[in-house]
Amino acid sequence: MKKSLLILMLLLCVFLLHAGTPKYVFLMIGDGMGPGTVQIYNQLFPNNNLKKFAAPVLTGTNNVFGKTTDSAASGTALACGIKTYNKAIAMTKNKKPVTSLAKLLKKQQWKVGIISTVGINDATPSTHYANSNSRGEVAAITSAIAPSNFDFFGISTLKGLPDSAMVKLKKDLLKNKYQVVDGKNMNTLKPGNKNVVISGTNVPLLKPGSPRLCDVTAKAAELLSAGNSRFFLMVEGGAIDSGNHANDAGRAIKEMIEFDAAVGAALRFAAAHPEETLIIITADHDTGGLTFKEPSKLDSKFHLKQKLFLAGLTSLAVKLKAAKVPAGEIIKKLAAQLGIENITADEQKRLDYACELFLSGKSTKTDKFTASMGYGRYNPLAVEIFRTRDRRNGFFYTTFGHTNAKVTTFTKGPGSENFKAPLENSDIPHRIAAALGMPELLKKANENAVR
Ligand SMILES: [Zn+2]
Repeated sequence: MKKSLLILMLLLCVFLLHAGTPKYVFLMIGDGMGPGTVQIYNQLFPNNNLKKFAAPVLTGTNNVFGKTTDSAASGTALACGIKTYNKAIAMTKNKKPVTSLAKLLKKQQWKVGIISTVGINDATPSTHYANSNSRGEVAAITSAIAPSNFDFFGISTLKGLPDSAMVKLKKDLLKNKYQVVDGKNMNTLKPGNKNVVISGTNVPLLKPGSPRLCDVTAKAAELLSAGNSRFFLMVEGGAIDSGNHANDAGRAIKEMIEFDAAVGAALRFAAAHPEETLIIITADHDTGGLTFKEPSKLDSKFHLKQKLFLAGLTSLAVKLKAAKVPAGEIIKKLAAQLGIENITADEQKRLDYACELFLSGKSTKTDKFTASMGYGRYNPLAVEIFRTRDRRNGFFYTTFGHTNAKVTTFTKGPGSENFKAPLENSDIPHRIAAALGMPELLKKANENAVR
């Protein structure tokens, strides 16, 4: 009797200790998902999944020098909990390696998954499994994937490497006892293995027939949680950044739709495990400085009227130029690709100027005046077509680069009370660790490197 009472009390203690402690953590990163992008997305889709979270907390993203970050410094902040220099992959500003929360949890028998719609060896994902002085060391970073022993990778592409690198990676993964499948065979994966899905997560926008980011996210959660395992799953919507870098809001919105759908997959998992699932959604930085000036002008279907991304519009312009199509016709044809009709006199003036610049082949960088028009490294006419569309919709971009605008962090589930303002990106993994009942875990692991 006494013994059974003791066991009962012990069980009660264990239960109390674990009550409110998440077992499943989703860290979802919208690369380049700045506040302007979120604002426009919210107006286009008032019932989106981000709206199902409590009001977001503004989050600082500057690097260790107080300057605008790149995805490497902010990736390191989000993965390892330290501020560092741009280009660093899990290194301190004195180039000492730091460990990620993902690696520490792996040591404690958590399952770990990493999914990205862009290169799996690119800055954001690699800060979780690799250490490198520079994000440019893509071959070395890639070679850290298989030995990580992480339990799931959703691989879209490899950045900066020839096709043979994917063949080599696949070999390394198989040697390390991973089960590796193509996206279309994702459903053959079995729990209990280390699993990799190759061929893409971004792919609704690139290659029809491949699984969507939301499908890969749902599959990863299913596999990682099998057998009552705990998991940490990082999901990156990586190409919102590319859309905003090109000042192509239509592309950024399409990538947001995919990222939002992945958030939906996490929410569905959380609905089945409400007491045990913590979801964190954040961005590594703002890209493009998108400013939403006149919300009443926004056409709720502007992104659907856009038939080509900036790169596609540029190719079309080059083709029309080669075919010696007259300037006026080129402008009309390109404008139609973004659903622009009835060009006004003012719009025409700007477009004529940009078209002349394009047809003359004059560099927009070396000539001072044209440089001041701010077409960056992009085709001036394609950029001006996008700007025409954007002006009509009440928003504009202020740069082709990153900005230091604070990003928005959304949280839901047990432990979300840990994410109160003020919040810096480097606080986030520490707050996750605190939510898991191990507030000192990451700090202790990295204290020698940081010193
Ligand atoms: Zn970027």
